[in-house]
Amino acid sequence: MRHTLVRRIQRILNVISFAALIGIFAIVARIFGYAPEWPAALTPRSEPAPRVALISGHAGFDSGAICNAEDGTVTLTEAETVARITDLAAQRMRRTGAEVLLLDEYDPRLDGLQADILLSLHADSCIPASGYKAAYYERSRIPSTGDRILGCIDRHYAATTGLAHDPDTVTVDMTAYHAFRKIDPSTPAAILELGFLGGDQELLTQRPEVAARGVAASLLCFLEDDPIGESPEPEEGQ
Ligand SMILES: [Zn+2]
Repeated sequence: MRHTLVRRIQRILNVISFAALIGIFAIVARIFGYAPEWPAALTPRSEPAPRVALISGHAGFDSGAICNAEDGTVTLTEAETVARITDLAAQRMRRTGAEVLLLDEYDPRLDGLQADILLSLHADSCIPASGYKAAYYERSRIPSTGDRILGCIDRHYAATTGLAHDPDTVTVDMTAYHAFRKIDPSTPAAILELGFLGGDQELLTQRPEVAARGVAASLLCFLEDDPIGESPEPEEGQ
C-alpha cells in the first residue's frame, strides 16, 4: 500500500518536472529567437514544376515540307521528322521535372495557354541549305523575354547541334505565327526551325537525339534564367 503511494507520487513528480523542462526550453528558445523548422515532408514546395508547352509542327494538320525522290515518291516529311525530335525533347524535359504539354499545330489548348514557355518546332524545306532560325511574335508584349529565348537557342541549340544561325530566311509565318496570337500574352513563346530537311537531313533524321538535346538545353537555359549561357551538357556517347 505504501509502495503504490510512493510510486504514484513519483509519477506525478516526473510529469511535473517534464512539463517544467518543456516550459524552460520554450522560454529559452524564445529568448534566443529559435524558430522550429518544418520537417522536410511538410515544407511547402518552394517552386512548382515549370510548365513547358511544345508544338510538334504540323501535327494533326498536314505534312509540312515534303521531300521527294527523283521518281516523285515521298522520302521525308517535316511533320514526321519534327514529331520525333519533339517527343525526345519532351522526354528530356520531363526527366528534369518539368510538366510538358505536347500540342498539335492547331491544338485547341493553345487558346489562352498559360505556360512558362511555349516552343513550336518546325523544320525548313528540302533545299540543300543548312542552319536553324528562331523568332518570336512581332507584336509581343514581352519582347525582352522573346530575346532571352532566342539568346538561349543561339547559345545552346547552336552549340549542341553545330548548326549555324540562318537569320536571313525568317518569314512573316514565323513572326506572326498563329499560335502567338492565341496564347495568353504573358506566356513566353518562340518558333524554332530546327534545320533544313535538305542540307541538315543527316542531323534531323539520323541524330534526332542531338537536336532534341539542343532544344532541351535551350529550354532549360531560359527556365533557369541562365545569364551567362553555360556550355551545354556533354555528348552522351552518340
Ligand atoms: Zn513547318
